[in-house]
Amino acid sequence: MKAAVVHDFAAPLVVEERPVPTPGPHQVRVRIEASGLCHTDIHAAHGDWPVQPNPPFVPGHEGVGIVEAAGDLVRHVRVGERVAIPWLADACGRCDQCVSGWETLCLQQHNSGYSVDGAYAQYALAHGDYVVPVPEGIDPMDAAPLSCAGVTTYKALKVSGARPGTRVLISGIGGLGHLALQYARICGAETIAVDVTDDKLALARDLGADHVIDARTQDVAAEVQALGGAHAAIALAVSNASFQAAYGALRRGGTLVLVALPAGGKLELPVFETVLNGTKVIGSIVGTREDLAEVFRLHALGRTRVIRETRRLEDVNACFDEVLSGKVSARLVFDLRG
Ligand code: NAD
Ligand code: ZN
Ligand code: ZN
Repeated sequence: MKAAVVHDFAAPLVVEERPVPTPGPHQVRVRIEASGLCHTDIHAAHGDWPVQPNPPFVPGHEGVGIVEAAGDLVRHVRVGERVAIPWLADACGRCDQCVSGWETLCLQQHNSGYSVDGAYAQYALAHGDYVVPVPEGIDPMDAAPLSCAGVTTYKALKVSGARPGTRVLISGIGGLGHLALQYARICGAETIAVDVTDDKLALARDLGADHVIDARTQDVAAEVQALGGAHAAIALAVSNASFQAAYGALRRGGTLVLVALPAGGKLELPVFETVLNGTKVIGSIVGTREDLAEVFRLHALGRTRVIRETRRLEDVNACFDEVLSGKVSARLVFDLRG
């Protein structure tokens, strides 16, 4: 099979032939149809974070495809079913976090395309209990971005406290942000979109943002304070300056949800203002299997639109450059069919 492999954090990925893998007792082999390019894959390939993956590895945690073979102990999915392989490759299933609905915080977890090989390949192995069925009628090319960009921002909106009548700032209208904006609208919030490219600002208007701010030329915090301040701000831009701006845009009692993970990401908090304003700053990491099932149901109901362009896996290095240059409409998806 064909796979895109990271051999070295300082070198381009290599598209090479690998043997088709055989599933263990708890695993399924998925014939990948669609594999989304999340900005996290670029961080992984560059070794940007304090906990690094071990090359050689295959990135990719927005994998969607058909179960082609299943181990003896797989009970929940059948051969022929379409499933998603998300970031949470597996967890222990028994710890406090796992049994209380926070499997995404399990200390024993593995992560697709990071600690185990992911979906930048024609076939991938996955744990039969942790793949998520993709409902009939959802295009696999849409399902792929929903498997990380969708579920991550859906969860971030949930923990932000957004509800009808609140004002929500979405910082960064990329792969994650274009879906975050739609979930904020589904919550009934007044929405403010911030980005630094003309195309993304136009996309935000097209998706129905109530206010659009260009962080290149406008003071984000001042503009949002003039509207009354944000009840919640979702930080999705790969930029420390954007975190500071989002923090400054909050109203008293507001919540900043940190999601983006720039290399060496830092946010300096003024303790006095944070205390007196009762500000909440929380981190949010992907979402659970149930969150992803909800994301798929909303999409099947026609409530969300995935903005994506398809690419060939052979072009993976050019695709990374496209994302880094900000030229992508929202999400790139590798089409691995045929
Ligand atoms: P992306 O590159 O598609 O989107 C980033 C967007 O931010 C772009 O539209 C860019 O123009 C915009 N931007 C850049 N500078 C800005 C600024 N100063 N102000 C406002 N907008 C600005 O990336 P993505 O795939 O959406 O991922 C975003 C980040 O989220 C990455 O760091 C990724 O690793 C992280 N991520 C985190 C989780 C999680 O669970 N916490 C999950 C997935 C991705
Ligand atoms: Zn991701
Ligand atoms: Zn656990």
